[in-house]
Amino acid sequence: MVTTISGFDRIGEENAFAVLARATELASTGMDVINLGIGQPDFPTPEHIVEAAVKALRDGHHGYTPATGILPLREAVARRTLDTTGVEVSPERVCIMPGGKVTMFAAILMMGEPGAEIMYPDPGFPIYRSMIEFTGAKPVPIPVREENGFAFSGEEALALVNEKTRLIILNSPANPTGGVTPRREVQTLVDGLEKYPDAVILSDEIYDVMTYDGEEHVSLLQFPSIRDRLIILNGWSKTWAMTGWRMGWSIWPDSLFENVRKLAVNAWSCVNAPAQYAGIAAIDGPQDAVADTMAAFDRRRQLVVERANQLEGVTCATPKGAFYAFPNIEKTGWKAKELASSLLENEGVAVIGGPDFGILGEGFIRLSYANSEQNISTAMDRIEAFLKKG
Ligand code: PLP
Repeated sequence: MVTTISGFDRIGEENAFAVLARATELASTGMDVINLGIGQPDFPTPEHIVEAAVKALRDGHHGYTPATGILPLREAVARRTLDTTGVEVSPERVCIMPGGKVTMFAAILMMGEPGAEIMYPDPGFPIYRSMIEFTGAKPVPIPVREENGFAFSGEEALALVNEKTRLIILNSPANPTGGVTPRREVQTLVDGLEKYPDAVILSDEIYDVMTYDGEEHVSLLQFPSIRDRLIILNGWSKTWAMTGWRMGWSIWPDSLFENVRKLAVNAWSCVNAPAQYAGIAAIDGPQDAVADTMAAFDRRRQLVVERANQLEGVTCATPKGAFYAFPNIEKTGWKAKELASSLLENEGVAVIGGPDFGILGEGFIRLSYANSEQNISTAMDRIEAFLKKG
């Protein structure tokens, strides 16, 4: 029997991928499956971005690039950051990553070890906790509560910080809840962190442009007092419908940049060269497709919330960001994961049970509205009929 380091006994998964596999399997047997499980835009990548990648290939960009990414792309990220946050960052602190996920992988790997504590949102993206456990650090959940509109509370988060806290992971707009944390909560946390200068912050801002009803996205970059210990995670996957391209960017403090550069050299050498040229086209090119996507998401959001609130025993807060709704199903009498698997097996509707996002996810399911209005309506009809059957 081959043995590995003990971290592999603790590493977790992202159940959305297992649900996707099962949904695909059921569909291959002829079942009509509607997927409200997976977190990826259902639109194609805009044509001008695809063309930029094709052109890059034709122009001969077939080789390695610098490990941290090509300079024009890092400069484009810096320009976009200035545009969206009002904060100037040097392209020298931007590292292009093979997907958004890899930034959390790198940051948690850098900060986690036995004896250290890492805070992360619960419910939250499942890979945070999985990677924290992998490193042997202690995972400390920051509660994300329905009664706070699924924003985290600055005060509650601060109460969990101590001398052992190495990394604090924040995510707004949030997966799986669609919550957007207001500036005052971030300010409370940031002010309190002055007492803990060694705690690094990882802000996952991958849904930054995805807010509704005029809700403001607050970037952690806008708080100068923590800039020297702030890592930003962002990327192309959600905004430009590029999940399969594996393109992300990260912004690092000077003190950590060498670490991520070396990790890149050791692990992935560089990100796919033509994809990096596509990344420039995405940032610098026309943004109408992004606006159209957001208008479609907004219509679907209203549809999902309206229909979910009509379901027996279900209440659904209106999400302010991302493309997820997180209805409370407690009064249906179902356990969330059982409901999710019954909906898939019996009704052909894929959703994700809240506990896949953390202990505080019990009593909720996640509905991704990255699907057509027609499919959403049909899925909600099926859920309604299923719940009526008891
Ligand atoms: N961060 C959050 C909060 C996400 O929801 C996701 C994807 O679902 C990611 C990061 C990872 O993005 P990528 O597909 O670019 O790795």
